[in-house]
Amino acid sequence: MKNSETDLVAVYIGLGSNLENPVLQIKSARTAIAAIAGVEELAFSSLYHSAPMGPQDQPDYVNAVMCIATSLSPMELLRCLQYIENNQGRVRKAERWGARTLDLDMLIYGDQIIELPDLTVPHEGIAERAFVLYPLSEIAPQLPVPGKGNIADLLAKCPMNGLKRLD
Ligand code: ATP
Ligand code: MG
Ligand code: MG
Repeated sequence: MKNSETDLVAVYIGLGSNLENPVLQIKSARTAIAAIAGVEELAFSSLYHSAPMGPQDQPDYVNAVMCIATSLSPMELLRCLQYIENNQGRVRKAERWGARTLDLDMLIYGDQIIELPDLTVPHEGIAERAFVLYPLSEIAPQLPVPGKGNIADLLAKCPMNGLKRLD
């Protein structure tokens, strides 16, 4: 489904990196996302430090959440995000949740619930991940998460798991 040029949707994107200067990776990704045709940046959270999920023999992550307004369809935006991941040296390995220079996950796309082979929105892990919920609540404290409740309620049930905000 393609949106018309004037039909802008608010989208939240989770950014994560734990290789090759993660803070710089996140900042470069922010610039690259804002430069996509049909995307305008609306908000960007603080940077956070989180312990890795899955394999523990990898560095801690730097995370943030960005809000954009876009005229792109969900799949068009996903392809752009994957292009940026690849462009910043993301190497896809068989191991799930391994170290990476950049991970860009589409957390929320307007009020849509999407179940496609390559795209699940809201993102599957959104309700359990402190490194998503805390930065998200910083920029959108009242946000409804389609099908899952609102941010404040999800946050109240989510331990911080060592998440730290970077100054
Ligand atoms: P997780 O999605 O649990 O955080 P991950 O980010 O490490 O894990 P990736 O390797 O980045 O996973 O992506 C695996 C696949 O997930 C991608 O090929 C993409 O098609 C699919 N995917 C499904 N839903 C989403 C989404 N909301 N945002 C980004 N990718 C998604
Ligand atoms: Mg991810
Ligand atoms: Mg991902």
